[in-house]
Amino acid sequence: MEIISEKIKLQKTLEKYEGKTIALVPTMGNLHDGHISLIKLAKQHADLVIVSIFVNKLQFGKNEDFDRYPRTIEADCIKVQKTHIDIIYTPKESDIYPESQITRISADPILSNILEGKTRPDFFSGVCTVVNKLIQITKPDFLLLGKKDFQQVCVLKEMISRFNLPIRIIEGEVIRDNDGLALSSRNQYLSPEERTKASILYQTIKNIKDKILIGKRNFTDLEKQGIIYLKNAGLYADYISIRDAHSLQLASEKSNNLIILAAAWLGTTRLIDNVECRANPNQ
Ligand code: AMP
Repeated sequence: MEIISEKIKLQKTLEKYEGKTIALVPTMGNLHDGHISLIKLAKQHADLVIVSIFVNKLQFGKNEDFDRYPRTIEADCIKVQKTHIDIIYTPKESDIYPESQITRISADPILSNILEGKTRPDFFSGVCTVVNKLIQITKPDFLLLGKKDFQQVCVLKEMISRFNLPIRIIEGEVIRDNDGLALSSRNQYLSPEERTKASILYQTIKNIKDKILIGKRNFTDLEKQGIIYLKNAGLYADYISIRDAHSLQLASEKSNNLIILAAAWLGTTRLIDNVECRANPNQ
C-alpha cells in the first residue's frame, strides 16, 4: 500500500494502472468500521482502490468543529493497511486549495437547502466542491458513499448526473455499534454518560419506522412524537423528517419508499442518522 500526498505523484502512480478500474472512497479520516466497510465494498467492484483522507474546511461552518475534528492519520493508515488496498491519498491542503477557493460547485438547491442544508448552509457546496476535485485528480470509475449521510448521497448523485461524469456511485449500508448508534467520527466527542444516551436517536427513528410499518400514516404526528421523545431523553432535535427516499421531498401518505432522517444535539455534539422504510401504502 502506498501513502501519497502529492497530486503529481499520485497521477504518475495512476498511469501505471492504465486500463484498470478505480474506486475512490473519500473520507475525512479518523476511520472506523463504517469507513472500512466502504473500503471492502470498493474492493469488490474495482481493480484499484484509493482511500482519500482530507478534512475539508469548505464543509465546516464558522462555528463548527473544523479545528477540533479528530485527525489520526497514523492510526488510519494502520487500519487501511489491513484491508490490503492500494493507495491512501492524503492530499496536501495546497493541492486541493492552492488559494482561497472562490469557484465552487453549488449543490442542487432542492436537495441541499433542506434538512442538513438548513442548519449548515454551505455544507453541501463544500462537499460537492471537494468531491469534484478529488474526482478530477483520481478519475475513478466508482465512487463509494455511505448511506449514513443519506442526503449527501442524494446531492452527490445529482452532481455526478448533472455533470455527466462517467462514474457509478456505490452506496454502503449504515454501520452501527451494538446499541444501534451509527458509527461516526464525532461520537468520540460524547462523554460516557452522553454515549449511553446517544443510541436513543436511532431507537426513536426505528420506532417511527415500526409505527409506519403497522400502518400509521400521520407523518407530522410521528415526527412530533419523536422530537418529544428525544427531548425527554435530553436530546434536542434539529429535525426528524419522514421523506420520499428518492426525491427527499416531504412524503405523501401514498409514498411507500420512505426515509426517516434525524439530526439532534446531545450536549455539544450533533448526531445524524436515518433509516429506510419500505411501507405498504395500502395498509
Ligand atoms: P466522513 O469521513 O465522515 O466524511 O465519511 C466518509 C464516508 O464514510 C462517507 O461516505 C460516509 O457516509 C461514510 N460513513 C461514515 N460513517 C458511516 C457509517 N457509520 N456507516 C457507513 N458509512 C459511513
